[in-house]
Amino acid sequence: MRRKIVVGNWKMNGSLASNEALLKALAEKIPQTTPVDIVVCPPYPFLFQTQSYLKNSPIRWGAQNVAKFESGAFTGEVSVSMLNEFGASYVIIGHSERSTAYCESDENIATKFMMVKKAGMTPILCVGETLIEREAGIMEKVVSKQLDTIIKMYGEEIFDESVIAYEPVWAIGTDLAASPEQAQAMHQFIREKLSSNNKVAKSLKIIYGGSVNPQNALQLFSMPDVDGGLVGRASLNASDFESICHSAEI
Ligand code: PEP
Repeated sequence: MRRKIVVGNWKMNGSLASNEALLKALAEKIPQTTPVDIVVCPPYPFLFQTQSYLKNSPIRWGAQNVAKFESGAFTGEVSVSMLNEFGASYVIIGHSERSTAYCESDENIATKFMMVKKAGMTPILCVGETLIEREAGIMEKVVSKQLDTIIKMYGEEIFDESVIAYEPVWAIGTDLAASPEQAQAMHQFIREKLSSNNKVAKSLKIIYGGSVNPQNALQLFSMPDVDGGLVGRASLNASDFESICHSAEI
């Protein structure tokens, strides 16, 4: 049985003051012995603050992106070793808000995935189709292609102990979450696609992202191949995030 995981993606939100309140509330609300892996991903400048408040809590933290290079003349970039120094154990890779706004290619995403694994952290790879692609019935083809680049470059084994977040682009920030059945169908497709390596297929956590909230989390997380959630807006409210984490205790 896979342990479920709930990840909060804070995006470009927060300040030292508002984070302090949120981190203190989360550290207080989440019990030491939670049966769910809980992660928050603040913007880079707040990683030190996050580490300070969460180091004695079961909540882990991560980043929302990383450079594909180890170090050097890459203005504005942040490397895996820098993230490691701030105790980050997860990195979100290929979020659609980044791949559309910054034209990130599947090859770039694949390289970042490998860098994160090599550094001993867990990548959270975002995949998902647009509304037009879903309406055209090609969502599986689209997600398959997003995974194929990584498989071609590094082999299926690289997904061992990794997290894939199925985030249909049309469900992000829209209040139009996928139905539990739509999420299950895609998660099952992804698991079956990676099933030639039994260990990978069994250990791989596939989480759903896109307008998860305290009202829909339980139904989504009850589906057999939904191993938790990637939560945007609702992760900025301590009570809502706690409630979503609680829904994963099944
Ligand atoms: C996200 O962007 O990862 C996300 C899931 O956002 P929201 O929950 O706000 O739709």
